[in-house]
Amino acid sequence: MPEGQPVIFSGGTLIPVSSPPVTDGAVLVEDGRIRSVGPISEVGRENPDAEIHFFPNYVLLPGAVNAHAHLGFRRKDRPEGGTFAGWLSKLIERLPEKESWGAEAARDSAREAVEAGTTYMAESSPYGECLPQLAESGMAGTAFAEFFPHEIGTPEEAVEFIVGKTGELRKGLPERVNASISVHSPYTVDPESSRLAAQRTRELGWKLAIHLSESPEEVEFVRYGTGGLADIFGRNEWGGMGASPVRYASDVELLAPGTIAAHLATGVSEEEIEILARTGVAAAHCPRSNDYLGCGVSPVPRMLERGIRVGMGTDGLWSSPSMNLFEETLFAVDLHGLDGATGLQLATLGGARALGIEDETGSIEPGKWADLVLVETAPGDGDSEREVLEAAAGGAVAVTVVGGNVIYNRLGA
Ligand SMILES: [Zn+2]
Repeated sequence: MPEGQPVIFSGGTLIPVSSPPVTDGAVLVEDGRIRSVGPISEVGRENPDAEIHFFPNYVLLPGAVNAHAHLGFRRKDRPEGGTFAGWLSKLIERLPEKESWGAEAARDSAREAVEAGTTYMAESSPYGECLPQLAESGMAGTAFAEFFPHEIGTPEEAVEFIVGKTGELRKGLPERVNASISVHSPYTVDPESSRLAAQRTRELGWKLAIHLSESPEEVEFVRYGTGGLADIFGRNEWGGMGASPVRYASDVELLAPGTIAAHLATGVSEEEIEILARTGVAAAHCPRSNDYLGCGVSPVPRMLERGIRVGMGTDGLWSSPSMNLFEETLFAVDLHGLDGATGLQLATLGGARALGIEDETGSIEPGKWADLVLVETAPGDGDSEREVLEAAAGGAVAVTVVGGNVIYNRLGA
């Protein structure tokens, strides 16, 4: 699209997510941003010079915002699930097989996400290894660099190393791609490194990603210092702190509004929800991964009631069947008995809010980036948002647009 040339995307129905659906809706896009939203009759009349892309049998939606993913895993090498510790020990065994984990797998995962309508992805990989593939994909997003202090040195040295490394990663990136830091988990990063890393990322104004309260084994490790994770990580002697993972994370100051906590699937009772609400931390819900690894069910409806920001995450292809965030969301909708509109909200604006980027993306509103998808479906009279979610989950995304650029178009038009 030439710079400055306005373009109209129009579909049979437009679902802005932040406002009610519009029949024969249209979006005017200029310089990558949404300039106006309304019925095609109005938007077309007011902008006679705009080039019109008209898709009458398609629904226009905001693109999916994936709040927690890993790009680097190749699907066919997925370890068997069942228990988290069993799966993790297989994962650690397989990591040296670089062809099953690395650049090519990351490229494939990113492609799959794009073709399923993902326009923004929060990706986590060791030392930000998958940032190049995220940047190449055309999606907007952030790569969260995980660090493992025992591989580096003292907590101070480890945190300075990852801050320096991430600072380097942030140079020369596309406008909407970024890098930040992830404290991988309570069982891989010691309390002092966790505290320092959280402090430094806040000073720098960066976001922080963590895995938290994911598995029964994590709960046991943090509380008692025993169990499957204590067996795997024998050198990590800080377990047994007599608290839940959420309480522990709060004690080491990991929880703040700029933190995105993935999973929260096991050991999250009313007391933990209270801590999450009070600290303003956001949640990334990955129900298919939790299901595959025997990790329980995250109390998402209760968290939403308490005003906790919740987005959806696919996790990676070693714990999840696909990178399709709409499919992940349909699973959550069925799991928690939610309606279709709530599902579409979780998949788009919910993720943007969780990541603190709701002024930039997540809904179809003037001023935001034009991050859009076209889904082939003709919703009926029932829960039409659910029908759209089902279609997108089932592979009906035909066009993916990021910042006004068409990065996927299977219609060839
Ligand atoms: Zn994860």
